[in-house]
Amino acid sequence: MSHPAKASEFLQDAAKAKWHDETLWFVRDKRDTISKTIPEWEELRELASQIKDNVLANLYEYLVQFEEKATANGIQVHWAKDAEEHNQIVLSILQKHQCKAIVKSKSILTEECHLNPFLENSGVEVVDTDLGERIVQFLNQPPSHIVLPAIHLKKRDISELFHEKLHTEKGNEDPAYLTHAARLHLREKFLGAKVAITGVNFGVAETGEFVVCTNEGNADMGVHLADVHIACMGIEKIIPRRKDLGVFLRLLARSATGQPITNYNSHFRSPAQGKEIHIVLVDNGRTDQLAREKFKNSLKCIRCGACMNTCPIYRRSGGYSYGSVVPGPIGSILSPGLDLKKHSSLPFASTLCGSCTDVCPVKINIHEQLYEWRQEITKAQGTNAKSISMKIANGIFAVPFAYKITGAMMRGALKILPDSITYSGLNTWGKQRDLPETPKETFKDWYKKNRS
Ligand code: SF4
Repeated sequence: MSHPAKASEFLQDAAKAKWHDETLWFVRDKRDTISKTIPEWEELRELASQIKDNVLANLYEYLVQFEEKATANGIQVHWAKDAEEHNQIVLSILQKHQCKAIVKSKSILTEECHLNPFLENSGVEVVDTDLGERIVQFLNQPPSHIVLPAIHLKKRDISELFHEKLHTEKGNEDPAYLTHAARLHLREKFLGAKVAITGVNFGVAETGEFVVCTNEGNADMGVHLADVHIACMGIEKIIPRRKDLGVFLRLLARSATGQPITNYNSHFRSPAQGKEIHIVLVDNGRTDQLAREKFKNSLKCIRCGACMNTCPIYRRSGGYSYGSVVPGPIGSILSPGLDLKKHSSLPFASTLCGSCTDVCPVKINIHEQLYEWRQEITKAQGTNAKSISMKIANGIFAVPFAYKITGAMMRGALKILPDSITYSGLNTWGKQRDLPETPKETFKDWYKKNRS
């Protein structure tokens, strides 16, 4: 299904759609307020953008440096060219440790690689330990937002779900009560897991360490209790120096949720005695995106979600309408690079207002890339009803006489045609809008009469 079709499903529940819109706007508003408390905010954004430009220009060198340093620190480094290889590497580590149950903190990369179903099909129990992720896992759904995975659900939905899965009191919607029940449930899982999987927010080339940011401390809890830590990292997550972290950590939490800092920014440099750390460096289409000159800087993304919170389309159509692991404006420029046919409707899910570009902490020109993708997709699609009608319109607009005659015919026709024709299924524009009243005369005629 295309984005418009899925969006119209989301809009069936008008009250929930309105609430979704307002909730995300609230987060966007918090981001604005807190960013204004940092006088050098714009300089920080520029600096972050330049650091990432440098990373993309020297990605190979930084990755090799990271591998050398991490290996010297006792971390086992693996390389995966795609999702399949990534999943096989993770499974082989689990098999080596005869591990049948793992805990996992939030990682968009593992969602992208469909790691959960892969491991479950191989007989491994996977427990997502981020509260929002656990909620959507119970529902067998993917996250609908990269930072707020269950933002499409209300307290009532979660109360009903927890009553069914965790046997909480029926009808108790108190967030503190529900969170406490989730903590008790997850603690049991933490205590039983020999292996913990995390994502990676930043890999530091200079030191070979990596940083995982969470608000719930669930990554730390899992990793410290387990014997083996597997960290899954997209190759674009590298940064050159430890001191660059200050720039990104100040931008990340403020852009994501309007907090001054993420609650837990944990650095992993070497395994504790008797334990193992593995890091899997994953390409999965990233080097292809790097080779696309117009789109390569989408790899600067630090996954803060700010472009989703501000986007008038995302807020009003929900994360699932994108049919892609990363939804919203950034997803709409990343996903066509992975599968142009499947995701061809996404670059059109935008007003091109540029709000995403304005809030992006690493200054990705998101709306310009959406516009570029539209042109690529239109070219790739060849001739269709829209391109034919645009060609006809182009011919009419180019010839003043044709424009005059067609205008007169259309004005006359619109006055007499019944609504069943003017608002037929072909007129998708008119689904929720009325055509303007037909003017009695053209502007040209009016001007001739009134120019004196
Ligand atoms: S594109 Fe920019 S605003 Fe959107 S998630 Fe990435 S870093 Fe955040």
